[in-house]
Amino acid sequence: MQEPTYLDYNAGAPLKPAARAAMVEALAVTCNPSSVHAFGRAARRIIEAARRDVAVLLNAPPSAVIFTSGATEANNAALKAAAPGRVLVSAIEHLSILAAVPQAQRLPVLPSGVIDLAALEDVLAGPEPAELVAVMAVNNETGVIQPIAAVAALARRFGARLHVDAVQAAGRIPLDAQHLGVASMSLSAHKLGGPQGAGALVLLDDARFRPLIKGGGQERSRRAGTENVAAIAGFAAAAREAARLEEPALLAPLRDRLESLVTALVPETVVIAAASPRVANTACLSLPGVRAETLVIALDLEGYAVSAGAACSSGKVKASDVLQAMGVAPQVAAGAVRVSLGWTTDGAAVDGFANAWERVAARLVPHRGGDDARLPTAG
Ligand code: PLP
Repeated sequence: MQEPTYLDYNAGAPLKPAARAAMVEALAVTCNPSSVHAFGRAARRIIEAARRDVAVLLNAPPSAVIFTSGATEANNAALKAAAPGRVLVSAIEHLSILAAVPQAQRLPVLPSGVIDLAALEDVLAGPEPAELVAVMAVNNETGVIQPIAAVAALARRFGARLHVDAVQAAGRIPLDAQHLGVASMSLSAHKLGGPQGAGALVLLDDARFRPLIKGGGQERSRRAGTENVAAIAGFAAAAREAARLEEPALLAPLRDRLESLVTALVPETVVIAAASPRVANTACLSLPGVRAETLVIALDLEGYAVSAGAACSSGKVKASDVLQAMGVAPQVAAGAVRVSLGWTTDGAAVDGFANAWERVAARLVPHRGGDDARLPTAG
């Protein structure tokens, strides 16, 4: 049987060879990076080199990089530090933001999936000052790019700090934390082809920061706990590759081909946010009238791994809050799956997926049938 094809990069990218090699090398350095002896100093050198690599990815000073267990922790640390001030979050943020500050006011997005800047300005200009605004750089479900420079300018004008979840943007669009003037950004290693369990909070404005995890003085007393040296080394290797921004040019033609094939083979297919500014690797596709979980299972049986809704947590599938916030029709939202490409994706994977989509649609779309012309399957 053919090897399954992975098209779920926004949930997590397969480990890149450079990250694996860096981790294997770092695993030989088993000592505590806080120890002052030569063994500890060797581990410390790995972490400080990694800090510089991660800083380059966002054009931030290395001293701003706080290594964490991932972006969930980084987002929690950034958001909880703001309490009890007033917090504004976009309605399409990842759960690691929304659940961290359930009291936060949610900012609407336009049908394009882009934050409603006029609504943000109205709220900021209101009688109650906001302390912190959180808007993600790229949405994980639709790939829609948010106008972070404009959001940052508005936040600055009204004296609010801005936190940006850059998890799905890193390596996909240029990011410049210092130029944007953001207070903080979060990153996740495993979305870049690094390991799970590593990430960073990049804290440019630490005026009101209170550590989420307290204990020892690691990470300059901003995140206690012995650093995960090997995971951080893998994160840095993936960050170095992401900083080169080579993937978008490789993936854009593949994603565009995938979308034109599925819409040609199955005209009922809806490409969500097709006309919005999007990163090159993400396609949010719907077959109205078919449930997303049925689609995911049918595609899995065909050998294609995609996900439904924000499926990066527990494998459970529920109606997507992101698509709801965009005002996508319930029937379309209920049948939406996310196809996300990355460093292992090639043309054969795209053609094979399109053929699988057509076979699945023939079985699942009500009143559909017929023998469409098929492309050769992935080799
Ligand atoms: N933010 C976004 C936009 C994400 O897509 C994810 C993971 O899916 C996270 C945060 C959480 O990252 P981590 O898995 O490193 O906790």
